[in-house]
Amino acid sequence: MAKVIVVGGGAAGLVAAWRASSLGHQVQLLEANGRLGVKLRISGGGKCNITHAGSPRALLEAFPQPQARFLRPSLLAFDNQAVLELLRREGVDTYSRDNGRIFPLDRPGSAGAVVAAFESLVRRAGVEVRTGARVGALQGQAPQLESLLVDGAPMTGEVFILATGGASYPETGTRGEVLGWLRNLGVPVRSWFPALAPIPLQRPRPAWEGVSLRDGELRLAAGAEGRRLSVHRGDVVFTKAGVSGPAALELSQAAERARRDGAAWLTYASVLDPPESVDAALQEAQRSNPRLLAATWLQRHLPERLVAPLMEASGLERSLMLKDLPKAGRRALVALVTALPLGEPQPVPLARGEVAAGGVDLLAVDPRTMAIRGWDNLRVCGELLDVDGPVGGYNLQAAFSTGFAAGSI
Ligand SMILES: Cc1cc2nc3c(=O)[nH]c(=O)nc-3n(C[C@H](O)[C@H](O)[C@H](O)COP(=O)(O)OP(=O)(O)OC[C@H]3O[C@@H](n4cnc5c(N)ncnc54)[C@H](O)[C@@H]3O)c2cc1C
Repeated sequence: MAKVIVVGGGAAGLVAAWRASSLGHQVQLLEANGRLGVKLRISGGGKCNITHAGSPRALLEAFPQPQARFLRPSLLAFDNQAVLELLRREGVDTYSRDNGRIFPLDRPGSAGAVVAAFESLVRRAGVEVRTGARVGALQGQAPQLESLLVDGAPMTGEVFILATGGASYPETGTRGEVLGWLRNLGVPVRSWFPALAPIPLQRPRPAWEGVSLRDGELRLAAGAEGRRLSVHRGDVVFTKAGVSGPAALELSQAAERARRDGAAWLTYASVLDPPESVDAALQEAQRSNPRLLAATWLQRHLPERLVAPLMEASGLERSLMLKDLPKAGRRALVALVTALPLGEPQPVPLARGEVAAGGVDLLAVDPRTMAIRGWDNLRVCGELLDVDGPVGGYNLQAAFSTGFAAGSI
């Protein structure tokens, strides 16, 4: 039996502490906040998208290749079914949406029910929980971590599991400082980087706040005339400062990389056909329906609120009929539906990401045990690792699986 200290009472730390205690170890769980699972409580808009449906293989395929390779052993040992079964035994029934996202059965505050289930598991397993305990430093050198400082007082243990999360939403307790301490101890890390965040734009359109572009594709290019860098299918929602919504979140990391590389440009294609076929279809409409208003044609492809301002910006009268549409006007309409310019992104805020990219370098961690290579008693799990999956329950699943592996001592 070992004396185990788990730092961080979020998704990964709760599972790690429960697992280690269930295996007979003496476990202390330290959490900076006054209560456990603060980020879990706000996950999925307060409903908590616990995990994603599908085989472990399908789940892994959602992650970038090196991350999938790293996650394989821990996810196979504690997969989505294992998480759901554990929760079911604690009275949390779940359902899967058409898009594969799994949630607790709908009721207000369902994320709270998930936290309560883990909290009850942890306490029943005999974990000593200390909330309001922010670790202020790590002391030791490879291969031994000697102690942690909590409120200036050292705490010793035989095994240390760090589950302190990422660096987004710092108000939930995740300030990301532990990564810097690990770097100072010689552990290979990759700096935090924004991901799954809204994208502010150089020229935001606050008047369009709340309007959604649907069923199309958000495209990222290296500049207005540059080559295409990345694409994401899905909806985009205008905000005061720029764009949000599923496609914007998914593309935010690539947008920020391109921006830092010197050139980034976003467009939205509401119609995915090539511009030539859209142009051909518009010409056909001009022949078959000459008295149709150009604005009505545009409204078939773009939200109504955007039609008037976009027509005006393109120099087209709202009363214009298709039969009177000049060639340049036709090109302008085609461009609006196949590549609506959103323009240059501004710095993507790390703090507003559903996840933070970066973290402990996966090559420095044993994927079966989450032990940091070259250290005898130091393990990491959850978002503190350099793992960032897409939206859809993948990030919590990664936290649960790596937490389970870290606690399997
Ligand atoms: C708004 C939002 C919505 C999200 N929705 C979903 C979703 O629906 N589905 C999904 O899969 N993912 C979602 N995510 C991502 C998911 O919540 C995280 O990936 C996941 O919580 C990571 O788990 P973790 O245990 O590694 O970190 P966390 O859950 O963040 O837990 C880390 C804990 O460590 C504590 N801590 C940090 N530093 C210290 C310290 N020095 N001393 C003591 N304690 C410390 C923190 O207070 C925190 O409680 C969402 C994220 C956000 C921000």
